[in-house]
Amino acid sequence: MNIHEYQGKEVLRKYGVAVPNGKVAYSVEEAVEAAKELGSAVTVVKAQIHAGGRGKAGGVKVAKNLDEVRTYADEILGKVLVTHQTGPEGKEVKRLLIEEGCDIKKEYYIGLVLDRATSSVVMMGSEEGGTEIEEVAEKTPEKIFKEVIDPAIGLQAFQARRLAFNINIPKELVNKAAKFMLGLYKAFVEKDCSIAEINPLVVTGDGNVMALDAKLNFDSNALYRQKDILAYRDLEEEDQKEIEASKYDLSYISLDGNIGCMVNGAGLAMATMDIIKHYNGDPANFLDVGGGATAEKVTEAFKIILSDKNVKGIFVNIFGGIMKCDVIANGVVEATKQVGLNLPLVVRLEGTNVDLGKKILNESGLNITSADSMADGAEKIVSLVK
Ligand code: ADP
Ligand code: MG
Repeated sequence: MNIHEYQGKEVLRKYGVAVPNGKVAYSVEEAVEAAKELGSAVTVVKAQIHAGGRGKAGGVKVAKNLDEVRTYADEILGKVLVTHQTGPEGKEVKRLLIEEGCDIKKEYYIGLVLDRATSSVVMMGSEEGGTEIEEVAEKTPEKIFKEVIDPAIGLQAFQARRLAFNINIPKELVNKAAKFMLGLYKAFVEKDCSIAEINPLVVTGDGNVMALDAKLNFDSNALYRQKDILAYRDLEEEDQKEIEASKYDLSYISLDGNIGCMVNGAGLAMATMDIIKHYNGDPANFLDVGGGATAEKVTEAFKIILSDKNVKGIFVNIFGGIMKCDVIANGVVEATKQVGLNLPLVVRLEGTNVDLGKKILNESGLNITSADSMADGAEKIVSLVK
């Protein structure tokens, strides 16, 4: 789960990680009021959306007085920001962070991620802050330094200092930077983060080390024990189809392609996406209906796929083990009765009650293309949507 920058900064502040003073605002009046209360010489008006790249897209503005705060707040609120992370449709700005302007001397990058190769949390740092780290990784990978953190003892102070030295933090500020990193690591672990990215971390004119941006991402499986984090959830920032799917306990992730997939089992769902790609198609979603799904759950799953306007065809790929093929067939028929179906539908059924499942589909009057194998099904749906 993602949260907003201002919320991330609230979390970090509790761990002693330095961040500028700031306030959230939902309207222009609130923005001006917040700026008045901050009383700083320079105020920054920042769009709050669950995506980075706001600066380049016009979502971060530096105001020198209250009139400018008003102008920028008015300009940014309600604006649809299109950044490299939002996709072409962009995201509407509904909240602002009104923040103290900071005298930046230099921008750095610090990130924490779970590295599956070493099964450890890794802290990454670079002196190329403020820019897209993906670009630094591609063009000048030697400018990214890493510290692999032993989970038993956590980030060690010497590692934090080494990273600070490697990214050329001024010598007199290395200890401050190390303290920053240790606080960030503690927040990451205690709050069950999956990503913590500070881009930029800055060294200021008056010799401070601060987080000017904060992107925190949390492991959804841990939210049951992070009630304060869960309270930060902003449903308006999330994919409506994913929210709907979570109500029915379906594992659904929406993607950019046009072939809707209904599959049982995460492994088969991954393989299905792969084979669609193999035949030059693009999956519109990952969907695992699970083992014990009822016809009702399958119906809802199918309706969610149909509600995606990008979907131009559907591939149902089921290997009935615990899940029975007739349950799937009934779910598909029920969903199409409720919302109609005028897209190509390819079905590959195998396993428990396969004959009954096929019979239900054959007698449903739906225009179904049946497939003998996974490869056959993928090839058929790809050619049908083209
Ligand atoms: P994004 O990564 O979405 O573009 P950031 O929060 O990183 O948004 O802001 C973009 C840039 O704006 C930063 O790299 C920094 O140069 C500037 N900036 C952001 N917050 C402040 C601030 N409080 N004071 C001064 N400059 C800021
Ligand atoms: Mg940033």
